Amino acid sequence: MIIIFSIMWKYSFPQTDKYVAERNEMVRSQIAGRGITNSETLRAMRKVPRHLFVPEQYINEAYNDYPLSIGYGQTISQPYIVAYMTEVARPNSKKKTLEIGTGSGYQAAILAEIVDTVYTIEIVPELANESAARLKKLGYKNIIVKSGDGYNGWAEHSPFDIILVTAAANEIPKPLIDQLAENGRLVIPVGGPGGIQELMLLVKKNGRIEKKRLSFVRFVPFKRL
Ligand code: SAH
Repeated sequence: MIIIFSIMWKYSFPQTDKYVAERNEMVRSQIAGRGITNSETLRAMRKVPRHLFVPEQYINEAYNDYPLSIGYGQTISQPYIVAYMTEVARPNSKKKTLEIGTGSGYQAAILAEIVDTVYTIEIVPELANESAARLKKLGYKNIIVKSGDGYNGWAEHSPFDIILVTAAANEIPKPLIDQLAENGRLVIPVGGPGGIQELMLLVKKNGRIEKKRLSFVRFVPFKRL
């Protein structure tokens, strides 16, 4: 009886089982294994179906340890980088978040599993439309996607407790610093396209900005309209 049930189970949800196992293994080896400890970040990384955020032809590589092309010259970041940026941002259920560079919508989904609301802006209109449709289909009601240049942030919803930029800028856009709440955290890769890029953390304390360099990274360039 148990054997029949388990066979029926296997054939009812074969895909689900496979990806759940891959996701748990990804978190074990690439995320927790490299020092990410924030329990909410780990929970979100175990939950969000990354394979549904990559193009069909890369579906079997979705949980691998590298970024993947999502078209239009853009990429979905490596899982570890997504987890690292999430942990550094110190997300919790009270926080209002702004992301610049929606791309596939994966980072937005990870954040939305933890924070109150995610506002996210994408400069490539096709990607903005695709990710908005994908996130809606997956049931995310606390993510608002906008198509446009994120340089100026999203003043009408500011201030933000967390601002996460997923494209590398030569300098930190001033409007983003202005739209950061008191004790807010801005995580952004800074540097030119071919050259050295550093992930920076900016924290606003008593209206002043404290800057910290985190690590060397490689992101697609921050573009302007
Ligand atoms: N967070 C994404 C990663 C996408 S890569 C994910 O989880 O899949 C970075 C994205 O930033 C690209 O889609 C690129 O088009 C976008 N981008 C670059 N400059 C931008 C800008 N000024 N405003 C908004 N999006 C921008």
